[in-house]
This record gives sequence, structure tokens and C-alpha cells, in this order.
Amino acid sequence: MASIRKLHQQLVSKERSAVEITQEALARLEVLEPKLKSFLWIGAEAALEQARRVDAKIAAGEEIGPLEGIPVALKDNLCTQGVPTTCASRILENFVPPYNATVVEKLAAAGAVIIGKTNLDEFAMGSSTENSAYQTTANPWDVTRVPGGSSGGSAAAVAAEECVAALGSDTGGSIRQPASFCGVVGMKPTYGLVSRYGLVAFASSLDQIGPFGRTVEDAAILLEAIAGYDPKDATSIKTEIPNYLDCLKPNLRPKGRLRIGVIQETFGEGLEPGVENAVKAAIEKLQELGAQVQVVSCPTFRYGVPAYYVLAPSEASANLARYDGVKYGMRVPDADNLLTMYGKTRARGFGAEVKRRITIGTYALSAGYYDAYYLKAQKVRTLIKRDFEKAFAQADILVSPTSPTTAFTQGEKADDPLSMYLLDLMTIPVNLAGLPALSVPCGFDERGLPIGMQLIGNLLQESTLFEVAYAYEQSTPWHQKKPILVS
Ligand code: GLN
Repeated sequence: MASIRKLHQQLVSKERSAVEITQEALARLEVLEPKLKSFLWIGAEAALEQARRVDAKIAAGEEIGPLEGIPVALKDNLCTQGVPTTCASRILENFVPPYNATVVEKLAAAGAVIIGKTNLDEFAMGSSTENSAYQTTANPWDVTRVPGGSSGGSAAAVAAEECVAALGSDTGGSIRQPASFCGVVGMKPTYGLVSRYGLVAFASSLDQIGPFGRTVEDAAILLEAIAGYDPKDATSIKTEIPNYLDCLKPNLRPKGRLRIGVIQETFGEGLEPGVENAVKAAIEKLQELGAQVQVVSCPTFRYGVPAYYVLAPSEASANLARYDGVKYGMRVPDADNLLTMYGKTRARGFGAEVKRRITIGTYALSAGYYDAYYLKAQKVRTLIKRDFEKAFAQADILVSPTSPTTAFTQGEKADDPLSMYLLDLMTIPVNLAGLPALSVPCGFDERGLPIGMQLIGNLLQESTLFEVAYAYEQSTPWHQKKPILVS
């Protein structure tokens, strides 16, 4: 599938119709889904209907927007009116929301063709998409491996060209890490830039919706469509949304004007040599492009994972209390009183990882432990924020690997949650500080698996991230390589 810009040109010049483009995506889905399993729901009929509407507009000589007629996918934790929203959980098996998430409304208003809902780790808890109650998504570069998570379905679908772009959500890395594992661009915006209204909550102070694209430009177009103030989200920021496309230039700003800080602590133990080499080469490339590169230190970075695994489960334990068999989704019928019904519904409805998080969170918030765990973790969060503030006094953007490893094999870490948690060490601090960051492809390891470089920006500096990622992308060949499944 071509890029958004290319498809738009084809539509406007009547070289192809929106129906043809949608049919191309649906045909690819039919061929690839048995192997890939990136979708939980496919809406072929509604997609074709939307495509026909776009074609009618073009035929009537009306102008169309950049996303009109473009096939996109949504992570299945975004509420879609009249369409199942399962969060890959049994407990929401039959849940059909009566309303759309704000981002879904925005995409619909922009004329995008929504082709389906993608697989995820149950309630976005995980790093491999193996925690889905329904299916395990494969990595298009090697189907024996995971696509990363929790937005693994969206990342794999974009990488395999089952759709042009997709939305995911990122609480501790769930957009950036699967983007890195699948060789696509994924961005987590500044906390509050994109409305969370209608995103099923995992950890509300960390969750943020963001775009996946095969190129930086596609991701920028998608972000521009979904960003903006929303009175329905109390944490939404009132800010002007810049024209992100304006900052996409093949060259970086004049020599020395862009200061890049390499986060020293992210190049330590546990980093795969292939990842280290690729990210270091990418940093050299940025230097060649005119950036002034220096090393910065964020000493509290390493406390990000432990703080997150107190804070995120704490928030999750509160957020998930609403799934009780009464208000949403499934209910175990054979219970003779209310408490037994709650218990049985949750026992059957939630998977192991979700139960683990609820248990940890409930424990951390309970009387007597609150100060020792939750409050302490909040203090660590403040220290991490301060480290970033110091780093941004010296640099315009910060750089690190997105993940210490490339995609691992399915089942490899399934029985060892701690080793999976530790993989988030580079992405989590960014959520704790509410900053924007993106993952851009920066090479392949010796097995041919994609590697991602993480660029972190200061608050609301999405434009700078796009600027740097675009200049880098345009001067490297990585985005042109296609996974085995596609070629
Ligand atoms: N992998 C992390 C977790 O399991 C992050 C998930 C996310 O960003 N949604 O919590």
C-alpha cells in the first residue's frame, strides 16, 4: 500500500478510487490474517460504504482532505459506536459501546476508512500481544516472533500493509516498542495532546493515544487529525495544533542549531549488540546531518520501571473495578448472590496478567502500604521529571534505543513477567514525565529483525521530533525495506 500522500494524489487524479484502495486492504487482510492475526474485528461492509462516500465526493468535484478514503485501523481499546470493543479481554467479549472515542470521531470526520479493530495485550497490559484472550499476533518480519505490545496488532497491521496507518495507545511504551519490533514509525504524544475520551482506561495518568505509520509523514498526518483540545477529557491541553507537515524537511536546521542529547544510562548492560551498533550509527548519521551531539545523564532513569510497576497497577486496580458483571460485558450467570457473581465473573473474565496487576495495585494502595509504595513511587516520578528537565536544558531532543532487544520469539518470556517488564526501561520514563517520543526505524539486527531509535522531545515538541525523524528517515534506507510477509 502506498503512503497517505501518494494515495491522496491517486484519488484526486482519479487514477484509483477509494473503493479500489479499500478493496486492496481487504484483499491483503484475507491473505495475511490467517498467519498474522492482527485484527480482532474487520468491518469490510462499513469500510466499503465509507469508501463509496469518498468516491461520490470526488465524482461531484468536491475537495477531499488528506485522510479521506485512506484505510486505517484502530486498537481495540478505543470505543467504537455499534462495533465491538473488547480490549482483547473475555470480560468485554460482547461489549458494544454506545459512543465513539473522540479520536474515532475525528478520524471519521476526516473521512478515513476504518477497516477494523486490532489485537492487543488484554487491557493494554503487556509487551508482546501474547496477553490477548483471543489470539497471538505474529511479527510480519518473522512469524515465530512477537510483534511487541501492547499495540502489537496495530504495529503488525501497518508493517504488513494490511492498512496504511493505525492508532495505538501508550502507557509505558505500547506504541513505540511494537513500532520498533515491526519496523514502523510510532509516536506517543505529549500527555494531554490527544483526547483520552473513549480510550478504555488502563493507567489514566500515563495513557496516551498515538499514531503508527510506515513513514514519519504518515504518522504526522495522523497525529494532526487526532490531536486537539477536548472538553470531554479533563486532562486535555488547550493548545494550538501546529501544521506538522510544515516541519518535514529533508535537511536538519543549520549546522549546530539542533542539540541532541544521548542518554548515557540507556546504553548499559542488557542492550543487544545489534541494537547498540544500529542506534550508535544512527546518532552518527544525525551528527552528519548537522546536529550537535552530546552525552546527557538521567541517573534516575533506572527507577522508572519499579515506579511504573507500582503506579500503573495502582491506577489499573481502580480503573478495572468497574468490570463487575453488572455494567459492562460478560457476566457469569450461575451465582446465587452478588458477591459470588462479581468474583466468578472476574475470575473467568480477566486473564492472568490483568489479575496480577489488579492484585499488585490493590496491595500498593492498601492502608499501611500506601506511603511505602504508592507515595514513594510518586516521588520517584518527580525525580525522573526533574532529570528530564535538566537534560532539556542542554539538548532539544534526547535519543536512546527504543527497546534493548529486537523482537523475541513467541512464548519466550511468557512465564517470566519480570523479564518482560524490564524491557520497558527506555520507554517508561517518558510516560512518567508526560513527554512526547517516537520510534523511528534505524536498521536491522543480524537476524534481519528491525531496530528502532527513540527520540524524546520536551513537552509539546512533537514538531521537533517529526523534523528530526523525517530528516533521518529520508537519508537512510530502512523505511524502504519490506517484511518477508509483504514482499
Ligand atoms: N509494557 C508495558 C506494560 O505492560 C506498557 C504497556 C502500555 O504502554 N500499554 O504495562
